[in-house]
Amino acid sequence: MEHVVIIGNGIAGVTAARHIRKLSDKKITIISGETDYFFSRTALMYIYMGHMNYEHTKPYEDWFWEKNRIELKKAWVEKVTPEKNLLTFANGETMKYDKLIIASGSKSNKFGWPGQDLKGVQGLYSKQDLDSLEEYAPNNKVCKRAVIVGGGLIGIELAEMLTTRNIPVTFLVREKDFWDNVLPESNAKLINDHIIEHHIDLRLEVNLKEILSDENGRARAVVVAETGEEIPCNLVGLTAGVSPNIDFLKESGIELGRGVKVNRYLQTNFENIFALGDCAEQQEPTGERRPIEAVWYTGRMMGEVVAQTICGNKTAYKPGHWFNSAKFFDIEYQTYGWVFHDPREGEAHFHWLHQDGKKCITINYQVESRKFVGINTFGIRMRHEVFDRWLTDERSVDEVVENLAQANFDPEFYKGFEQEIKNKFKSEQKTNA
Ligand SMILES: Cc1cc2nc3c(=O)[nH]c(=O)nc-3n(C[C@H](O)[C@H](O)[C@H](O)COP(=O)(O)OP(=O)(O)OC[C@H]3O[C@@H](n4cnc5c(N)ncnc54)[C@H](O)[C@@H]3O)c2cc1C
Repeated sequence: MEHVVIIGNGIAGVTAARHIRKLSDKKITIISGETDYFFSRTALMYIYMGHMNYEHTKPYEDWFWEKNRIELKKAWVEKVTPEKNLLTFANGETMKYDKLIIASGSKSNKFGWPGQDLKGVQGLYSKQDLDSLEEYAPNNKVCKRAVIVGGGLIGIELAEMLTTRNIPVTFLVREKDFWDNVLPESNAKLINDHIIEHHIDLRLEVNLKEILSDENGRARAVVVAETGEEIPCNLVGLTAGVSPNIDFLKESGIELGRGVKVNRYLQTNFENIFALGDCAEQQEPTGERRPIEAVWYTGRMMGEVVAQTICGNKTAYKPGHWFNSAKFFDIEYQTYGWVFHDPREGEAHFHWLHQDGKKCITINYQVESRKFVGINTFGIRMRHEVFDRWLTDERSVDEVVENLAQANFDPEFYKGFEQEIKNKFKSEQKTNA
């Protein structure tokens, strides 16, 4: 019987396993060094915040795997030898496969900062990171201040987590405004204000120089590169992005770029080896999507697609229109299509900001053709299926603004500012004409 081995028990690997089981009788083994069972990485923050315990984050009961004949192995894969269809584990054991799926996820970026490996210095990615956070920042007596380095979605989650335990947080952000390498300026400024409102000591346009150690090898302070200021702290959160977790593949002969290079069938340079999820790097264009996308739903989509291919129904990965959502403390953020910091050539942004400073919309569109390109919303929940359709149908920006209420999750709430948005849009279009 064909043996499909999957490295990684995250959303990508587990979805692949479940769908291969639905479609076939193949022997399936999932390997992970992190945890015995699949858990929801996106829920890590809620464990620390006390909203759920670790058991609640497991999407499937522990009996599910045996019942579905999916074998689980807790181990670290140290080496892959494609010529022999062989895996070698850290303890020296080996395992043969017929087909291999690499779904090894991401790792937190470290940029060689002095002190980055001290105790109390960590990313926020794994279950081990959560355990370490409990050790070094259980409360504000053990951890008198935390410093977070790198402003992105994970950094702000960590800030929110720490503030729920009343731990003072200093946030070092390299950019001019929070996450402005992604967000338009007005959006980024709204988030700056919101972070400060939550009593975070937000420092913009600063870099980490080094992390200082106490006599026990624990972090005791960080030094800011620009000013030389020493900020005493007991925890340093490194949240300057993530990158594919592929170091163990370096000697394997599997083609690597920033991630594991795959074609549109998620196949590597070896016919029987596939890669999915955060660690995969697309070699062929998938619309306007990025080659590496570290989001939950793309891992799930890739898992479904690869299961089809492995079970004989060769299927290309077609992720469709980009969308994403997140929360910045109390403000929900959604994005559909493409909105960049600055409009690209031939494109323009329409911005609307509510007077409460907590809701805003930015719409990106093509000036000549009027084609709607994308939207960011803050504090206003929109319907994915409506924007997905509008993007596919290539609706005009005028139609989108006119019909925004249709896309709104809560039309009653939206009525409060619907007219204001339309009026602002119309008056700006007149001025620009
Ligand atoms: C704190 C946090 C919050 C997030 N929130 C969101 C969100 O709100 N929305 C969203 O879309 N995305 C979110 N993400 C991103 C999302 O969680 C990831 O995109 C997704 O989990 C990646 O799934 P994956 O299956 O590719 O990899 P992973 O979930 O990383 O799974 C890979 C597994 O493989 C294991 N592994 C790796 N190498 C080896 C090896 N050599 N041997 C054995 N095992 C190995 C790893 O330990 C890991 O368990 C968040 C991520 C984090 C960290």
